[in-house]
Amino acid sequence: MTQTISHILLDIEGTTCPVSFVSGTLFPYAARELGPYLERHRHNEIVQSHVLAVIEAWQQESDPQARELWNQAQERVSSEAGASAMSRFCDSAIEPYLQWLIAADRKLTPLKELQGMVWAEGYARGELVGDLFEEVPDTLRSWQQQGLVLAVYSSGSIAAQKLLYGHSQAGNLVPLFSHWFDTHSGGKHEVESYKRICAAMEVEPQQVLFISDSEAELQAAATAQLQVVLSDRDYTQTPEQTQTQDAKTPPVGKGRHSITNLGQLKLNAAPFKG
Ligand SMILES: [Mg+2]
Repeated sequence: MTQTISHILLDIEGTTCPVSFVSGTLFPYAARELGPYLERHRHNEIVQSHVLAVIEAWQQESDPQARELWNQAQERVSSEAGASAMSRFCDSAIEPYLQWLIAADRKLTPLKELQGMVWAEGYARGELVGDLFEEVPDTLRSWQQQGLVLAVYSSGSIAAQKLLYGHSQAGNLVPLFSHWFDTHSGGKHEVESYKRICAAMEVEPQQVLFISDSEAELQAAATAQLQVVLSDRDYTQTPEQTQTQDAKTPPVGKGRHSITNLGQLKLNAAPFKG
């Protein structure tokens, strides 16, 4: 890095945490535990409000499969005399539709909220542990000790980001970060999102280093005048693949550096005195 930086903005998946943790651990855990969770917490008002929002979305569905599931659920709920409809929905009626939403990768807000609650319980029970790349905890600590301001920008919700860093294999790393950003700041491919984030941190974009494994995200950040580094974690490539990728990666000196490990980063750090 030639320019002085005071802030490091970090992507999560593919940068500080293996992509496989999210796709192979977190999402399967939520899919598996959602039904039992709803049963256990069917008297919880927050759970009920999310379930109600899911039911409302379900009623509006035009997809034939979702309609069919709705009809089946109506039969099941109405055949259960005595129990309240909400309780029946929480117990089992809503489960097939939730699983359908998950399989269809539909990002319905109340579903995301419920998944977040399932993860929170999983982390609290120790069934989930935030799986960061090995060097990440020590590297984050050393950056913070150098006076750098650390921030997260991930498409996972801020609540999910804090759960992951709060229950990592190295314990609670949440206090190392000063700022948290998710898609409420805008999409990660949008230039404006990065400008908004720098404004929120009250820092000039040129003083911020953004690290991500996504070329499209780096492109947007670079256009917003942030400094950028590519996290290139794929150790399994053949030499030919590596050459192909090198050919696509802009050469160092044009602003696109790449690292395979956060500890490799050579920083020209200037403690922030904002
Ligand atoms: Mg990523």
